[in-house]
Amino acid sequence: MNTYAEDCFAEIKAKNPGEPEFHQAVHEVLKSVSPVLEKRPIYRKMKILERIAIPERTVIFRVPWVDDKGEVRVNTGYRVEMNSAIGPYKGGLRFHSSVYLGLLKFLAFEQTFKNSLTTLPMGGAKGGSDFDPHGKSNMEVMNFCQSFMIELSRHIGQFTDVPAGDIGVGGREIGYMFGQYKRLKNEFSGVLTGKGVKWGGSFIRPEATGYGCAYFAEEMLATASQSLAGKTCLVSGAGNVAQFMVQKLVQEGARVVTLSDSSGHIYDEEGITEEKLEFILELKNVFRGRISEYVKQYPKAVYTAFDPNLGHNKIWDHRADCAFPCATQNEINAIDASNLVKNGVKLVAEGSNMSTVPEGVAIFQDSGILFAPGKAANAGGVATSGLEMSQNSQRMVWTREDVDRHLRIIMKNIHASCLNAAEAYGSPGNYVAGANIHGFTKVADAMCDQGIV
Ligand code: NAP
Repeated sequence: MNTYAEDCFAEIKAKNPGEPEFHQAVHEVLKSVSPVLEKRPIYRKMKILERIAIPERTVIFRVPWVDDKGEVRVNTGYRVEMNSAIGPYKGGLRFHSSVYLGLLKFLAFEQTFKNSLTTLPMGGAKGGSDFDPHGKSNMEVMNFCQSFMIELSRHIGQFTDVPAGDIGVGGREIGYMFGQYKRLKNEFSGVLTGKGVKWGGSFIRPEATGYGCAYFAEEMLATASQSLAGKTCLVSGAGNVAQFMVQKLVQEGARVVTLSDSSGHIYDEEGITEEKLEFILELKNVFRGRISEYVKQYPKAVYTAFDPNLGHNKIWDHRADCAFPCATQNEINAIDASNLVKNGVKLVAEGSNMSTVPEGVAIFQDSGILFAPGKAANAGGVATSGLEMSQNSQRMVWTREDVDRHLRIIMKNIHASCLNAAEAYGSPGNYVAGANIHGFTKVADAMCDQGIV
């Protein structure tokens, strides 16, 4: 990192205490873009680093709701509108007990550069609540979503800020929030993405993050004249991203042997087939059950509970060719990264955001394996949200094939942009540097063009 970036980082850290994930995300970007700052002194003159790490707007609000027993409950709601230099704010909503302001600042910061990489006109944002949908009835989830939207609706809009899903926010939650927004504003607009296909949603949006990550991995493997066919793959998580990651990997001829949730992971030596995936989709999306139930259905598979005292996660300690973390941030620590390399993994592509701690990223890069950060590899989700916005503006519904074709092209282009930027700035093959440089430069240039705002 050069001294300007170092000074900026020290100031950002001091001004945002107690937000380690935000510091981690900012540090990585500032380190990557240091060579760009040397070449383009205008960024320093325009105080781009100082401005880009401060959200343009942050909203924090009370979300009161009533549970099935008639008890009053209260949660905190957030929306971090980080950057609108290249388009309306865009980014998911996360409902999880771990949500706090610093976590959403990290996600909104990452989102800004990810959205820039997609080539579509979308700014960066993130939001959510410390509300945990696990164990809540549909009625309780609806009560919460409606109350959350009463306040959020004042700050979003199809031309201002267009939220989507993230952890804990899937089709059900988007439906309840969209219904409440429509009722409050008396308008049917593309204010949220991830909508049902029958009411303004896009084909392939549910699949897009997982599919896009698989397409990105295919591009990475092609640089080594390889493909996903025949590869043994580890996938973590069992939610939206993981489910469609597995589906596409299986379609491409790979053998997926793991899935997980926060309680533990399953290992299925024979591989998860399309039929087994159907079971998982129903288990997770309809019955909202635990992944451990997989081994009751398929007894040859093994379930291992997650042990928080072990210091590493056993899901990353199986022999494999490729690994796709699709659960949450920092789910691969340094020991996990070493285990993956030791077990023969040659490619890691992040389906979740910032899946790997910085020491883990260094281990992957030092060992020479292919490693793609989430802001590039999982950008297919938001890209397809951008395509949903396009369809809403056109009052059109594109076919499944059309959307999938666009998604493939976008992932191919992101891959090329990362490699080109990395090469141009002296780090050939470094997807982290390439993604950060390419994503940052477009936003920084737009900020310069638009003056001091
Ligand atoms: P999801 O449908 O809610 O699924 C999340 C999965 O990860 C669940 O299996 C969950 O298990 C597990 N998980 C969550 N927090 C965890 C933790 N602290 N430790 C261990 N496991 C945990 O969410 P998703 O949409 O798939 O999102 C997964 C990741 O992808 C997130 O990092 C998200 O930011 C990123 N992402 C999502 C999209 C998208 O389009 N949805 C796009 C880009 C990136 P439990 O059920 O036990 O909690």
